[in-house]
Amino acid sequence: MAFLEIEHLEKSFGTNRVVKDFNLSVAKGEFISLLGPSGCGKTTVLRMVAGFESPSTGAIRIDGKDVVKLRPNQRNIGMVFQAYALFPNLTVAQNVAFGLKVAGVGRAEREARVVEMLRLIGLPDKGPSYPFQLSGGQQQRVALARALAVRPQVLLLDEPLSALDAKIRVSLRAEIRQIQRELGITTIFVTHDQEEALSMSDRVVVMNGGVAEQVAEPFEIYNRPATRFVANFVGQLNRIEARVIAPTTGEIEIGGTRHMLGRSLPSGDVALALRPEALHMGADPARELNLTGQVTEVDFLGSVIRLRVDVAGNRLSADVFNRPDAPPPALNSTVTLSASASDLIILTA
Ligand code: ADP
Ligand code: MG
Repeated sequence: MAFLEIEHLEKSFGTNRVVKDFNLSVAKGEFISLLGPSGCGKTTVLRMVAGFESPSTGAIRIDGKDVVKLRPNQRNIGMVFQAYALFPNLTVAQNVAFGLKVAGVGRAEREARVVEMLRLIGLPDKGPSYPFQLSGGQQQRVALARALAVRPQVLLLDEPLSALDAKIRVSLRAEIRQIQRELGITTIFVTHDQEEALSMSDRVVVMNGGVAEQVAEPFEIYNRPATRFVANFVGQLNRIEARVIAPTTGEIEIGGTRHMLGRSLPSGDVALALRPEALHMGADPARELNLTGQVTEVDFLGSVIRLRVDVAGNRLSADVFNRPDAPPPALNSTVTLSASASDLIILTA
């Protein structure tokens, strides 16, 4: 049995169903992200797990115990929010000790726990400081320490990095993940940032309109998106309109040119999709798809060159690696890009 189980969870505000038949099993120590656009219901799911919102229907079990009827402080959950929710009039140490004090933990134990937590977040000397004396990133680390001080069974993080500068955000990703691993704490992390979700998570739940569209490991989500929504929301995607000539052999026509994919396809018109990095510079007979078109944009980004190439009306984005011996193609020149049939994402749903 999973450590945290959410079954058929639903939430309506009036007639607005914002979470629909949400199911999720989280293993002990697992790091799960809820990823989706603003308003898709991520925070509502988290708040139901925390007990700040009661489900319309459905079950939530932690370590086998039904928690739906329990108040937030009875659930043994730690939570960190987007905005720095530290108490401004308390020192860092007092902030971290806050939940322990409420729980009636004795002074000596509290002090020991604060030392332990400040070491864990890499701020061992900041105990006497006040929140305003810390950077945004440091404040979020203290918020994390405060949430973890009570030794919760489950850690819930609601876009904890989204108010921070890009550089700090990236370094805190790794730090949060390292702390989470060190403690082995079961974690649900909410974000609208796909890179954050892909880079941090054991598994990602992609949400859309209150529905979990796909629950899978990051590699799977990116390379084998289950739905059109997931394919479009996670990563960049080239869509190629194609007509299927022979579904069994995978013969298709793109703008009057035929290609043999050697894999079966649904019949009729299909949308084929390719990630920008699946397109390679130059013709290559070893790859099933060779597409010739005009270069409409060249973005030299250093390690990668991002090209826009118009192939029979399909504007394709191709990321090719920089090579010192091969300057980027000229604007308006004709190029051939190749791709393997196995890299194609076929969108039907
Ligand atoms: P997300 O965190 O993915 O941005 P939310 O869970 O905050 O989304 O919100 C999902 C939907 O539920 C939104 O349409 C939002 O307006 C609505 N909603 C959230 N909380 C309430 C509430 N307390 N009362 C009414 N509607 C709410
Ligand atoms: Mg939210």
